[in-house]
Amino acid sequence: MHGMMMNRPLSVIELLRYAAEIHSAGEIVSVRTEGDLHRQTYAETFKRTAQLAHGLAALGVQQGDRVATLAWNGYRHFELYYAISGMGAVCHTINPRLSAEQMLYIIGHAEDRVLFVDLTFVPILEALKDHLPAGLKLVVMTDAAHMPTSALDLHCYEDLIAPHPTEYDWPDLPEETAASLCYTSGTTGNPKGSLYSHRSTVLHALFIAVTLPRSLHEGARLLPVVPMFHVNSWGMPYAAPIVGASLIMPGGKLDGPSLYDLMESEKVTASWGVPTVWLGLRAEIEARGKPPSSLDQVVIGGSAAPRSMIEAFEKMDVDVCHAWGMTEMSPVGTAGQLPNSMDDAPFEDRMALKALQGRRIFGVDLKIVGENGQRLPHDGKAVGELYVRGNAVISGYFNNDEATKAAIDAEGWFGTGDVASISSDGFLSIQDRSKDLIKSGGEWISSIDLENIAMAHPEVANCAVIAIAHPKWDERPVLVVVPKEGCEPTLTDIHALMEPHFAKWQLPDDLVFVEALPLTATGKVSKLTLRKQFADYVLP
Ligand code: ADP
Repeated sequence: MHGMMMNRPLSVIELLRYAAEIHSAGEIVSVRTEGDLHRQTYAETFKRTAQLAHGLAALGVQQGDRVATLAWNGYRHFELYYAISGMGAVCHTINPRLSAEQMLYIIGHAEDRVLFVDLTFVPILEALKDHLPAGLKLVVMTDAAHMPTSALDLHCYEDLIAPHPTEYDWPDLPEETAASLCYTSGTTGNPKGSLYSHRSTVLHALFIAVTLPRSLHEGARLLPVVPMFHVNSWGMPYAAPIVGASLIMPGGKLDGPSLYDLMESEKVTASWGVPTVWLGLRAEIEARGKPPSSLDQVVIGGSAAPRSMIEAFEKMDVDVCHAWGMTEMSPVGTAGQLPNSMDDAPFEDRMALKALQGRRIFGVDLKIVGENGQRLPHDGKAVGELYVRGNAVISGYFNNDEATKAAIDAEGWFGTGDVASISSDGFLSIQDRSKDLIKSGGEWISSIDLENIAMAHPEVANCAVIAIAHPKWDERPVLVVVPKEGCEPTLTDIHALMEPHFAKWQLPDDLVFVEALPLTATGKVSKLTLRKQFADYVLP
């Protein structure tokens, strides 16, 4: 028997229409590529989004067309998210840190019709100009006064929207309609596309709003450090409007001092980003002796948050939520706030739990499987490959049957490529990406666990553990360290920190210093590049 409730489709534009009416004074504050700070309310944003939808139609954009963006976090990028999806086209965010080859591959694979580009990224287009597909229209996200001179045929964003009315007849789209497209950074092989629907996007926004209320509530001032070109900025541009949180958009200024100043001047209450970004902010906080005065929560995800980082923020009364997810999951899969039963637990116990990857959010199911595909118990001990399913998890990759077949199992679950255990009370512990695990003498060593301890050494600024080939043991761990200025931490000292937590054979065989660690396009440490860098390295 069917229920008798209206079957109104979930739709992305409704998130903004709601904010414009109910949280009309909520604002989007943006550090602009033009150099100034810009503010506008959700009510104004909704009107400009209507103008933009007319502008897109004037460019010939039709339902189902892919419209690409190459841009920092800012209000025009936000308007594009909503106008493109709202009119029934697909917003394809491109990561500007991809190689030229990968960028051209995804523009071609997505068959983009129009590309919107921030002023700062126009040089990327200039460099690619002989290889861009014929017919791709280019729009620079600025006003007439700031338009660059270029041999390319460039439209101007503000000129595109100015002539149009501030209302648009948003179509009623089936909720399965594609809304946006994001390619994984493709550290091996070509990037693969996650094609989000209106339904998955709205549900994910609701899921994270109920899971992370300390960041997402009316009056909150949320600073998304994670870029809008990477998994929709973890869903913040969709969740903030419905709860009435303002968005403070940092543009391209993501260094510690710039973030600190923006957090202070805009009274930022919460901020989300990857660990490498928090290293910069933490150093700035240490230099100034206190955290930004309104900062209440940071959400850390994208790679493992070292326990020492979590403790440093918590000791300053900034709550840390350690989250795990993937592009293919929209992306949030787990979140690390502690249950109430831990309220009075000792600090050490609370931090030990916070260093795990948290518990699944509503709408996400987790399973771990062993080598023969058998399900493993959630007992905190059994370690296996992590699979997920849920309302905002991909069912396959966009136009890529081969990758889809490899990723989805017979029961329809998506294989994450992560190796993990899950405790009986639901806490996920990511041991490693399967390709980063170190296989020594038939046993596994978790690079994440070793890094976590090494990061606690006061002379270590950043570090990574990688596998080095070994004639007898197959692979052995080596610790690559960026020392703090003027410091030279020794392997013996770091071993001493590790010894209480590891068996002797699990400890790194060597320590090497580097000036900086290579980063992926999404700002995480690139172990692949590091392994290549150390391909000829000989163990002592
Ligand atoms: P890419 O790194 O290719 O851009 P994603 O951003 O989707 O792709 O990365 C997802 C992966 O990042 C996960 O599969 C996992 O390996 C890693 N990851 C994300 N969050 C965490 C976390 N909190 N702890 C450990 N690993 C994490």
